[in-house]
Amino acid sequence: MAAKKVALACSVCGSRNYMVTKKPNRLERLEVMKFCKFCGQHTMHRETM
Ligand SMILES: [Zn+2]
Repeated sequence: MAAKKVALACSVCGSRNYMVTKKPNRLERLEVMKFCKFCGQHTMHRETM
């Protein structure tokens, strides 16, 4: 059971700003408020492929 690495992309500009390790039993799509250096503010970041 390998943990899956996913990128978190800014929902405003689409930049992939963060890499996170996702537990295999977490099936829901990750959505986190994180700071985007391109937008200069905290935005919603979503899991990508
Ligand atoms: Zn952004």
